[in-house]
Amino acid sequence: MSTEKKFASQADLEEKKVTFSQISEHAWAYTAEGDPNTGIVIGDDAVLVADTQATPAMAADVIRRIREVTDKPIKYVVLTHYHAVRVLGASAYQPQQILASQDTYDLIVERGEQDKASEIGRFPRLFQNVETVPAGMTWPTMTFTGKMTVWLGKLEVQLLQLGRGHTKGDTVVWLPGEKALLSGDLVEFGATPYAGDAYFKDWPKTLDNLAALEPRALVPGRGAALTTPADVAKGLRETRDFIADVYANVQKGVAAGKDLNAVYKDTFAALKPKYGHWVIFDHCMPFDVTRCYDEATQYADPRIWTAERDIQMWKTLEG
Ligand SMILES: [Zn+2]
Repeated sequence: MSTEKKFASQADLEEKKVTFSQISEHAWAYTAEGDPNTGIVIGDDAVLVADTQATPAMAADVIRRIREVTDKPIKYVVLTHYHAVRVLGASAYQPQQILASQDTYDLIVERGEQDKASEIGRFPRLFQNVETVPAGMTWPTMTFTGKMTVWLGKLEVQLLQLGRGHTKGDTVVWLPGEKALLSGDLVEFGATPYAGDAYFKDWPKTLDNLAALEPRALVPGRGAALTTPADVAKGLRETRDFIADVYANVQKGVAAGKDLNAVYKDTFAALKPKYGHWVIFDHCMPFDVTRCYDEATQYADPRIWTAERDIQMWKTLEG
């Protein structure tokens, strides 16, 4: 039997079980055993959705769940960052506004097309019914820098940029009245953080900024909703530990003059016992270590992944 790893998540074809649960007075979590989550805020007069799912066909299931608990209009879609698996379902909601940070908008301009092709290749299961995705990009209709407040009637919803981490444009959705947080991929739970477009040096500090809000409930980018302060702290801590562990191992290898291939093998072996049980560990590690090696050597900003670069990298590290 071949031990060669299938590229990215191409071997992952098992359907996941969806959970739709209320995490605070106005916030809900649509989660699926480690697949990308969607956060939902139901206000007095409207609904806000954070992250859309990968296709309109998949977003239709989120809408079906929302309609089980409210008939209020879905006015706002928030893109926590630019990744295709989060944004390409947006059209299904027919929102009045698509909100994102200006940094996220800039990334869509700079690398949206390449990211779309790359991610569809990585996750065939998540892009089922990919033909329902409209041609072109999902464009935000309103952008902000730093902070924006959306009022859903009397309910205050803050969109906050608390630092770079998973990407340059990361945005979290914060309900200050009930201390509920939708974190996007800045926080994962029982799922391996994807860091192929990340800022390793910034990410832990950004997580400290999230922690300083003292969330009582949190919807992570992947994994189960966190509904107690202890679970929130655990999600933040485990994400921070993973990022710090990758960075420390890569830095050690770089300092010893090792090439990417050797650094990858060392880092994978070092992290496997602690994190190997998290979903998409094998998928993420080659991308994460490649980006981390870049950051520790000569690239302050993430290089653009294309479908071709994905395969080339995989062959080099896993072939
Ligand atoms: Zn992402």
